[in-house]
Amino acid sequence: MSFSSLGLSEQLVRATTDQGYETPSPIQLQAIPAVLAGKDVMAAAQTGTGKTAGFTLPLLQRLAENPRTGKGPRALILTPTRELAAQVHDSVNLYSKYVPTKAAVVFGGVKINPQMMKLRKGVDVLVATPGRLMDLYQQNAVRFNEVEILVLDEADRMLDMGFIRDIKKILALLPAKRQNLLFSATFSGEIRGLAQGLLNNPVQIDVAVRNTTAENVKQSVYSVDQSQKTALLSKLVRDNSWEQVLVFTRTKHGANRLTQKLEKDGITAVAIHGNKSQGARTRALAEFKQGQVRVLVATDIAARGLDIKQLPQVVNFEMPNVPEDYVHRIGRTGRAGESGHALSLVSADEGKMLAGIEKLIKKQLPRNEMEGFEPKNNLPLKPKAKADPSKARNRNGGGNGRPDGKPRSFGDKPGGRSGGRSQNGNGQRGRSGQSQSA
Ligand code: AMP
Repeated sequence: MSFSSLGLSEQLVRATTDQGYETPSPIQLQAIPAVLAGKDVMAAAQTGTGKTAGFTLPLLQRLAENPRTGKGPRALILTPTRELAAQVHDSVNLYSKYVPTKAAVVFGGVKINPQMMKLRKGVDVLVATPGRLMDLYQQNAVRFNEVEILVLDEADRMLDMGFIRDIKKILALLPAKRQNLLFSATFSGEIRGLAQGLLNNPVQIDVAVRNTTAENVKQSVYSVDQSQKTALLSKLVRDNSWEQVLVFTRTKHGANRLTQKLEKDGITAVAIHGNKSQGARTRALAEFKQGQVRVLVATDIAARGLDIKQLPQVVNFEMPNVPEDYVHRIGRTGRAGESGHALSLVSADEGKMLAGIEKLIKKQLPRNEMEGFEPKNNLPLKPKAKADPSKARNRNGGGNGRPDGKPRSFGDKPGGRSGGRSQNGNGQRGRSGQSQSA
């Protein structure tokens, strides 16, 4: 299947050839014809799947098919962070090389005046973070009456970052008749709610992780009190000689705390989350990849798009709020024929989250207890048998399993081949410029 057979014009196909793309990625195969047909789209896709070209190429074609009438914008692409906005804008510029489309990007944390001047000159495609876009609207620098196509990119992250009110305000200002494209890595209840009010009979595309988990990922649960989790994790890392383990926490403070405690315990660890500068993240990742650091502690948002190859071991130090995140997390291990192990440390107060995950993956995870770490408060559905710690050691033993070394390709899940984008979770909230949680 080629780009031209998807119905794209010669100019747009030429732009993809210039980029060295040979064949469309799975999301492009599905999204391009749907968008060209004028349909609304709801896509579960992460960074690295080629989603940007998936919506940009057909969007450009639709704009080129109808001559413009005013000063636009005719297509509005909302993104959570300024880094993503800048990258999407770069992509729009690359793909629109041979079509007469004007694109602009606006985001917070920089002067607003140059952005106002740019908008005054007229623009076809506007890439924006929600906060700054609302500021520009309130200052009469942008109007939405010509918007024909709306794209919400990384919608889940936008909601995580508290943009829902801005998004709702913007939606209320757009012409009712328009095409809507929603891209999100996960589909929580909140995203589904947003989608329901936004999308009209959408084509649903899913190239992200399925809600079933890979056969070759061994999943287990240790029932343990919250206060004992760090000590248990230290023990597991030591006893099993894990040399490279990705550990998930729910919050960035939790990630920092855990990292410090592990370090105190003599286990090298770094945290990666939205409060870290890009430089600090890049350094942390490099140290982890080179084996200088055994434990990488990450929040869900920061981990998305992390360019790390398959890991033998993933630990959920805290269970994710959104069950789909569990599937993304454990998708980090056990890929490409390698066996992996995803282990969750679950305290009694997380029982509900565990139940939500088990409902999603349609199976009950075996519960274990570690001798010396038996919880005071049991999880619902208490395990019948206690785990044999020696077995645990054997099962994961050696810990010398390194990533498989194979490159990630389209359709792999989750994460991305580019890997850079989602590391930029320190995106600034357009309006306030304050750092976001990730
Ligand atoms: P995205 O998921 O949009 O962030 O894209 C991930 C990376 O894949 C970007 O660096 C794109 O330039 C690249 N890419 C997009 N489409 C293709 C394709 N069909 N073939 C090869 N690379 C692609």
